[in-house]
Amino acid sequence: MIDFHCHLDLYSDPSAVVAEVVRRRTYVLSVTTVPSAFEGTAKLAPVGGRIRTALGLHPALAAKRIGELELFERLLPQTRYVGEIGLDASRDHKGSFEAQRGVFRDILGICGRAGGKVLSVHSRGAHAILLDELAAQMKGNLPILHWFVGNSKQIARAVEMGCWFSVGPSMLASKAGRAAVAEMPMGVVLPESDGPFAMIDDKGLMPWEAWNVTAQLAQVWNAPIELISARMEENFRGLVARAG
Ligand code: MN
Repeated sequence: MIDFHCHLDLYSDPSAVVAEVVRRRTYVLSVTTVPSAFEGTAKLAPVGGRIRTALGLHPALAAKRIGELELFERLLPQTRYVGEIGLDASRDHKGSFEAQRGVFRDILGICGRAGGKVLSVHSRGAHAILLDELAAQMKGNLPILHWFVGNSKQIARAVEMGCWFSVGPSMLASKAGRAAVAEMPMGVVLPESDGPFAMIDDKGLMPWEAWNVTAQLAQVWNAPIELISARMEENFRGLVARAG
């Protein structure tokens, strides 16, 4: 099982969730929202296990925590994974959009100088601008667009740029989410939970529940669930072979 975007550090009892992740042998990309959370969150993951910790600066916090960019740059050599980063132009965060954009550009610049990173990227309400920013500074890094509900033109553009996508049960619970996923090629998609933020029936999703998306994908892509599961595993292995 694979969950390529999860906020392990934000569950009420992260150690209990990690213990269950280990028991269920789930591969998890554990994203963070501020650089100062990276080291503590990385300590949650057993050494040599299936959890990788990503260094992030979430767009909702980017303006307030711009001072942590320096720490971001200092910590980056410790991981191949970056996230959650990105842009958010939804109502709550529109006001800080220009500041977010500046921070995102700086992060892409830092990652560009480093190279070889996998980026878990947020894009709510800012799909076109996000692709513009990525196109300007991709530089050998692999963006994985998390919960990307762009239109078909934007999805085609992202694919052409070499982006991947991570999609989860909450995204596929909406019509718009299903329409977006229908446009995504099977070979560049990975499951995600986005727990505990993403919910189903008012309950934060658990990392192992990301895998429930395979049943939803089977419907959207009109393919057998066994084929979807095998494909997700193959995608993941290919990605890890690139990123480690
Ligand atoms: Mn998230």
